[in-house]
Amino acid sequence: MVIIGAGECGGRAALALRDLGYEGPVTLVGDEPHLPYERPPLSKEAMTSEAPAIKAIASDELLAECSIRRSHSVRAVAIDRAEHVVRLSDGSSLAYDKLLLATGSVPRKLPMPGLGPRCVYLRTFNDALAIRAHLSPQNRVAVIGGGFIGLELAAAARKLGATVTVIEAQPRILMRGVPAEIAEIIHKAHEAEGVTILTGRGIAAIADDGAEVRIELAEGQGIGADLAVIGIGAMPVTALAAEAGLAIDNGIAVDGMLRTDDPDIFAAGDCCSFPLAIYGGRRVRLEAWRNAQEQGALAAKNMLGANEAHAAVPWFWSDQYGLTLQIAGLSDEGRSTVRRDLDDGAFILFHLAEDGRLVAASGIGPGNAVARDIRLAEMLIAKRATPAPEALGSQAVKLKSLLAA
Ligand code: FAD
Ligand code: NAP
Repeated sequence: MVIIGAGECGGRAALALRDLGYEGPVTLVGDEPHLPYERPPLSKEAMTSEAPAIKAIASDELLAECSIRRSHSVRAVAIDRAEHVVRLSDGSSLAYDKLLLATGSVPRKLPMPGLGPRCVYLRTFNDALAIRAHLSPQNRVAVIGGGFIGLELAAAARKLGATVTVIEAQPRILMRGVPAEIAEIIHKAHEAEGVTILTGRGIAAIADDGAEVRIELAEGQGIGADLAVIGIGAMPVTALAAEAGLAIDNGIAVDGMLRTDDPDIFAAGDCCSFPLAIYGGRRVRLEAWRNAQEQGALAAKNMLGANEAHAAVPWFWSDQYGLTLQIAGLSDEGRSTVRRDLDDGAFILFHLAEDGRLVAASGIGPGNAVARDIRLAEMLIAKRATPAPEALGSQAVKLKSLLAA
């Protein structure tokens, strides 16, 4: 068993192979120097901590105990499908029976001239360390992109006292996948913390002289910053698969069992697109932590011949200041919305399809305020339930009772 990509998905898949009782050789190949680690803390706790550290998914000791061979700081550069061999950047090769591609995604690059050393992206622990060094009360940070990376980073930068301006091209922040009502709460929280958010503003020019970044907005305003962090989306890492002749469709295309069009090669996590059973087989690519974990574990099962289809409901969260946002399901499948107010200003929006089926739930509130109800909503979504809108909207009706019904 060979796994390319030692991130969330690859790391989990390697451990799952052992949990499932597989006793043959397992090799995990990663181009980063670190142990497999969690990325979510990079824009949250690790960014604000005095001494940022990796949160490892598996220690050296655990990998050794599980006899998982880890090849780090080395890239897979080619797959010879006929020979069942992967070629690595250090000149060596690895033979495989089954291969898992868990190559993740990389930041989408801002296609503009003028970028320099003070224009950076956040994906890896090393990126986080480089950014962390510029977050202090003396520094001005420009964040390009009002998505998850940009906003979580803005919150962390404020916590460390930096002056922060977020520039978002769309008319509002979190345009993709987060309802306007919830995005507005997050927008206000940032403004209350002193972040300047500029929406609907294109960038006309950037000039980075190595000491300062000058950003000219299309409307003529100029912004000076000590650091520009660019968070304008992510792209799946597909070149290795494409060069091996595997099908690509907004990511490495896999079936419900996470198999590519080569029966001995699987793909999982951020890098793959797959049919999502609960939405009638709609092909999606998810860039979320829990999906990477679940698909890593499922790919391991199927590499061992289980033939089990992916059936999970998508779910993700974001923490900004004291607020937590959680979304279960795909909200763009909804045609109408019902609001349920919870304690402490928290609320959940339930998204219903035309036929009344609950297809998604988006919640926001302090700390863990929405966690329990989002978990129950997720179970209702998985059951393809059609709960009465009045019941969803009433705090007097327990969601658990709807599940039993
Ligand atoms: P990755 O974690 O990207 O791992 C892929 C690995 O493969 C990388 O190490 C890459 O370098 C390596 N690789 C690629 N090609 C090769 C090759 N040819 N040879 C060898 N190695 C290769 N999700 C949430 O749900 N909630 C959050 O709050 C959240 N916060 C996040 C914060 C940040 C800063 C980031 C960057 C992501 C966050 N995510 C969050 C998303 C989540 O971390 C990802 O969805 C998850 O890491 C995907 O796991 P993966 O294993 O598919 O890819
Ligand atoms: P994202 O959530 O897609 O947000 C990017 C935002 O930048 C979008 O609103 C995008 O608008 C905007 N944008 C695009 N081009 C722009 C431009 N030229 N100028 C200004 N704004 C522009 O992606 P991200 O925040 O960069 O996150 C990257 C990856 O990290 C993803 O995989 C994400 O899942 C992961 N991540 C997740 C979390 C979480 O789930 N909590 C936290 C951090 C990171 P358009 O829609 O028009 O492109």
